[in-house]
Formats: sequence, C-alpha cells, structure tokens
Amino acid sequence: MSLDLPYTRYLAPDGRPVAELPGWADDFNLLTRLYRQMVLTRLFDLKAVALQRTGRIGTYAPTLGQEAIGVALGSLMQREDVLVPYYRDTAVQLLRGVRMEEILLYWGGDERGSDFVEPLAAQDFPICVPIATQALHACGVATAFKVRGEHRVAVTTCGDGATSKGDFLEALNVAGAWQLPVVFVVNNNQWAISVPRRIQCGAPTLAQKALGAGIHGEQVDGNDILAVHDRLRHALERARHGKGPVLLECLSYRLGDHTTADDATRYRSAEEVRQAWQEEPVKRLQAFLVAQGVWDEGREQALLADCQVEVQRAVENFEAAGVQPLGSVFEHVYARWPAALAEQREMLEERLARRQGGEHHE
Ligand SMILES: [Mg+2]
Repeated sequence: MSLDLPYTRYLAPDGRPVAELPGWADDFNLLTRLYRQMVLTRLFDLKAVALQRTGRIGTYAPTLGQEAIGVALGSLMQREDVLVPYYRDTAVQLLRGVRMEEILLYWGGDERGSDFVEPLAAQDFPICVPIATQALHACGVATAFKVRGEHRVAVTTCGDGATSKGDFLEALNVAGAWQLPVVFVVNNNQWAISVPRRIQCGAPTLAQKALGAGIHGEQVDGNDILAVHDRLRHALERARHGKGPVLLECLSYRLGDHTTADDATRYRSAEEVRQAWQEEPVKRLQAFLVAQGVWDEGREQALLADCQVEVQRAVENFEAAGVQPLGSVFEHVYARWPAALAEQREMLEERLARRQGGEHHE
C-alpha cells in the first residue's frame, strides 16, 4: 500500500538544486546563519561525546548528521511557542536559548541543566527520555493555547522508533479530534537504537500515520535544510492560524551511536554509514553556499575558530559549576510539595547531618 503524501527536497546531496527553490532561498544572511548554527551544533556535539568518553558527563545522545532538522526548527519557532523535546534536540535547544553548559549539566546528571536561565527557553519543557510520552504533553500544552485563544504552537519532536508507541498514536488522535495547534516533528534517522526502520513499522512512510488521525502529514529530506525549513514554516503557520496540526517526517540518518552507551558497529555495516555520510546536511548546504559565491575556505576557517572558542567557553563554565548538594534531587519536580516527599527530604537531611557529624569525630 502506498499513499501519495508530499515529499520535498530542494538540494541534492552535492548541494545542487533539484527543484525550483523557494523565494527565501536567496536570503544569504539567513542561509549563512543556518549554516553557522549547524557547524556550531556539530562542534558542540563532538565535544560532548569527548566529555563523556573522558568521564566528565554521564551519557549523551549525539545529533551528528541530523543538524538540519533541529536548526531549521529552532530558527522558525516564535518566542511564545513551546518546545516539548526528546533527548536528541541539542540543535533546537541551543536556538531556543538553552546554554551549552546547561546541556552538559543535564547530561552530567545535574538538575540545573533543566532549569534554563534564558527566559525564552524557560517555558520550554525539559528533555523527555521516556519514549514518545512528550507527544501527549505537547497536546496538553496545545490544548491550553486553544482554550485561551492564543496564537501559539506547541512543537514536539521524536525519533522513528517513538512513532510505534501508543503514546504517539494517542497524541496524534487527540490532536486531530480537537484540532490542536501542535506540530509533530519526526526525526526518522533510520535506526531505533539497533532496530532498523524497515522492521520497525510496516507502513511505507511514518508521515501517513497522520492520516488515520485526520491530520496533515508529509515527508521532507531531513538532510536538506532548505526543504526542512520551508515545510516547517508552513506547518507552524498552519497550526498557529487554527488550521490544524501537522506531522512532518524528516528523513535523515543517525551517523553516530544512539547514545554514548551504544556501539552501532555491532549492528550496522561500515559501508552503510559511509554511504550515509555522502548525504549529510552540513556539507550539502556548504556546497550550495560555495556555488552561490557566498562562502569560501577563509570564511569556513574563521567560523570554525569562532565556534571552537564558544564551545570551549561553555566547557569551562560547565566545569566551574561545581557539584550540586544531594538535596537538589528533590527540586524542580513539584510546584507544591506532597507530604511524602517533604518527609523523604527531611530523612536525607538528617542522614547527611549524621554523616557530617561522623566525619567530624574521625
Ligand atoms: Mg531513530
């Protein structure tokens, strides 16, 4: 069974246009900003993996190869919109104003990593690790927008594997039934940890899951930031103006491990990964910009140097943050404290006081 859903691609893997470009594609200020952000995300990502490998953070879910999706999304969301992310959203979070050191704190197990300092990001949700549950949270946020009559959009993200979960399908259903201002962005990176897309789901596309819920669904080449940006812009406008939810399936490839706790060489071939590198989004936009005469080796080197400085500064801030007190595990969970939790915190404080007393006598 094949359903004829729209699929958009503007740039071939070598950066050459394969379709008539959207009008905004000659806005080279915008395109070089998007390019810069993809490069910054990639360098930060590599650093985060290195920090995990040297034991400075607990784990990390790399964005490598999927930068176009998050950068397009982060650059298009309005201030008043709300991001309800999953765990592979470094690119979007950075553009929402989440600080690099906060992302490192989060993956280092520090609550301050989800307590965003930037007011713009403060309304966004923290990273959701349980698979697909965030899709329902986004529908709750979108329901609030609709009830209040606000022109805001809740945007939620997930991977290909999450679309098999009941939570995801239930979220699509309620979004369609109530015509909620919500956009579902699926990063179909071909792998759900070690489960390949072809055995994950029998449907020819993940986008067509939208149809069963009565909402609009389409696919884009997730390695082509022009395509992702163009279709996401339409999706956000549609949701913002009361025209209903959208499911956008972005076809990408996870060039790195699922997380730093994974070893992808155990279940996929080096040849498959080598092929996927030919399609990756950063080189693709770079080739397009070079062909347009707005990018060159000098600009590239200056950009890399700038980004390295920015990443290094964030690492220094992260390392200067110090260790949180143990009691912080109770913070940021409830606005009003349940009695049971207050009791547990008292127990912890007593135990810590006793331990300190014990050390004192030694
Ligand atoms: Mg995946």
